[in-house]
Amino acid sequence: MAVLPIRITGEPVLHAPAEPVTVFDAELEQLVGDMLETMDAAPGVGLAGPQVGVGKRLFVFGWTDEEGTEWRGEAINPELWISPAPTGWADEDEDAEGCLSVPGERFELLRSQKAILRAVDLQQRPFEIEAEGWLARIFQHEYDHLDGVLYVDRLETGLRKTAEKAIKKARWGVPGHSWLPGEDDLEA
Ligand code: ZN
Repeated sequence: MAVLPIRITGEPVLHAPAEPVTVFDAELEQLVGDMLETMDAAPGVGLAGPQVGVGKRLFVFGWTDEEGTEWRGEAINPELWISPAPTGWADEDEDAEGCLSVPGERFELLRSQKAILRAVDLQQRPFEIEAEGWLARIFQHEYDHLDGVLYVDRLETGLRKTAEKAIKKARWGVPGHSWLPGEDDLEA
């Protein structure tokens, strides 16, 4: 397995809808293994195909909840149902979200409290997870990546401008940037 370079915002693959996975072979198995390793090395709680330059509908996730349950695996060709998004203002701490493709930045964003994920694993076995809270947030964030949407695209106007400035200042937002966990001194 190998740690893969993570694409930074501005790379076209991050901003285009991904294609369904149609071939379940050793190459896909290798990709999922590499994505899990890359997510752990970053470290992060989720990583989507487009973030490693693969425009396919899959993501990996790894997160341990407050009760100590570890949620970890791959979601291939996922579908996601979400409860209505809460209204009001996002909390600066509780709703602060980050993304490995916008490393070093965090901005608060309201997300639906509940989500149902349906997908298949590497063996093409269907599974379903009813998620709440942070896990529901992870699924919404990763699922967005498969539609070419970054969380910064969803920020309210003021925060979005701040995020755009930060991206510009880092000279991102254009094709050609990536970082390698373990080598580059960046973190999400
Ligand atoms: Zn992300």
